[in-house]
Amino acid sequence: MPTRRTVLKLATAPFLLGAPAFHAQPRHVVVVGAGAFGSWTALWLARRGARVTIVDAWGPGNMRSSSGGETRVIRGSYGDRAIYTRMAARALRLWREYEQESARRFFVRTGALWMFGTDDTFATTSARLMAAEGLPAERPTLEEARQRWPQIDFTGVTSLMFEQEAGYLLARQSCAHVVDRAKALGADYRVASARPAEPGGTMTRLALEGGGSIEADAFVFACGPWLGRLFPGVVGARVRATRQETFYFGAPQGDTRFGEDQLPVWVDYGERLVYGVPGNAHRGFKIADDTPGPPFDPTDGDRATTPAQIDAARAFLRRRFPALADAPMLGGEVCQYENSPDSHFIVDRHPAAENVWLVGGGSGHGFKMGPALGEMVATLVLTDGTPDPQLRLARFDRK
Ligand SMILES: Cc1cc2nc3c(=O)[nH]c(=O)nc-3n(C[C@H](O)[C@H](O)[C@H](O)COP(=O)(O)OP(=O)(O)OC[C@H]3O[C@@H](n4cnc5c(N)ncnc54)[C@H](O)[C@@H]3O)c2cc1C
Repeated sequence: MPTRRTVLKLATAPFLLGAPAFHAQPRHVVVVGAGAFGSWTALWLARRGARVTIVDAWGPGNMRSSSGGETRVIRGSYGDRAIYTRMAARALRLWREYEQESARRFFVRTGALWMFGTDDTFATTSARLMAAEGLPAERPTLEEARQRWPQIDFTGVTSLMFEQEAGYLLARQSCAHVVDRAKALGADYRVASARPAEPGGTMTRLALEGGGSIEADAFVFACGPWLGRLFPGVVGARVRATRQETFYFGAPQGDTRFGEDQLPVWVDYGERLVYGVPGNAHRGFKIADDTPGPPFDPTDGDRATTPAQIDAARAFLRRRFPALADAPMLGGEVCQYENSPDSHFIVDRHPAAENVWLVGGGSGHGFKMGPALGEMVATLVLTDGTPDPQLRLARFDRK
């Protein structure tokens, strides 16, 4: 196990302002929420020697949480949003290290194929920033792409980008594994619902639904789509949950063209952004529309898929993957994005309590960042650090 000093050298210094100062290290940190953000924060805190208590209302990667799906895409392309390309590059390294450390596979490297309609500025900008982080991006011609992926009908596509180092992650499974890993390092884990009072100064105690409380030196709230409800005053509508449907279709018998050996993760960047994940343990060909859906209640919302969305997914398949035009739907999931107004994450102290940290706003792209974001938050908490202004709540006041 690395010492605190060696781990610090690995810290994501670009996301932090000022030099780390260890004297401020809290002894006991409560992390509320065991999704991608909370589980990784807890693990990093435990790795660095803090006493950690993880609290989750339903469990890591539970079916209501935003991290509760089967798979999530990891890619380095972020247009001109350099902070995320840098974070994704760091996260990719950390996912790989974690796989080695735990002898489990959570990252499946398929590459990611981006298909552009008219405007591919996103590709040009992304490729430049990715190169700076050591992430290669090919720009295949349409002719090359037709040869390489004959399962795809490229009608309407004018340019392409292929990210070699991209792929997909096992989402819910990795959250549970990361919590187990934190427990193995001494973290305590409790299934309970936190009921924090909006703080008016240093928080010393966290009340739990149904009675009881936990005392600690610092508190991290990584509550995904619930963050605004827990802190209506400072977060409130700055995290909005939207309903997102995902479908799995079945390839014809014996047809291997739609598995991960023959097809990468793909993104169709046209009028809408539609993306998909092939294979994943023969669970079907995943397809989803990234357009934010209607507002959604993550606790009690109905998670049945809708005929209109199924029809839209099928219409897309018919056009882009003609061999799947009549493929049976094998399953569907309804999850929610937890969108911030500018789709940047939120990582900040509560303005009224320096030992309360608010972490969320994954905005449909947070999962992949778990290891890097957790590392960053743990460093901030243990060193009394200052987050990158792009992630702080004050940015909303400036607009
Ligand atoms: C359909 C879909 C596709 C996506 N695709 C991608 C992708 O391809 N790539 C990518 O990187 N990201 C993707 N995302 C986004 C990503 O999944 C999320 O940003 C990320 O999982 C958010 O993690 P989180 O830990 O912030 O929230 P969550 O996973 O929701 O975790 C919050 C946790 O807090 C707990 N909690 C809440 N309130 C309380 C309370 N009061 N007390 C105790 N516990 C509480 C919940 O039980 C939950 O476990 C996608 C999201 C969706 C919905």
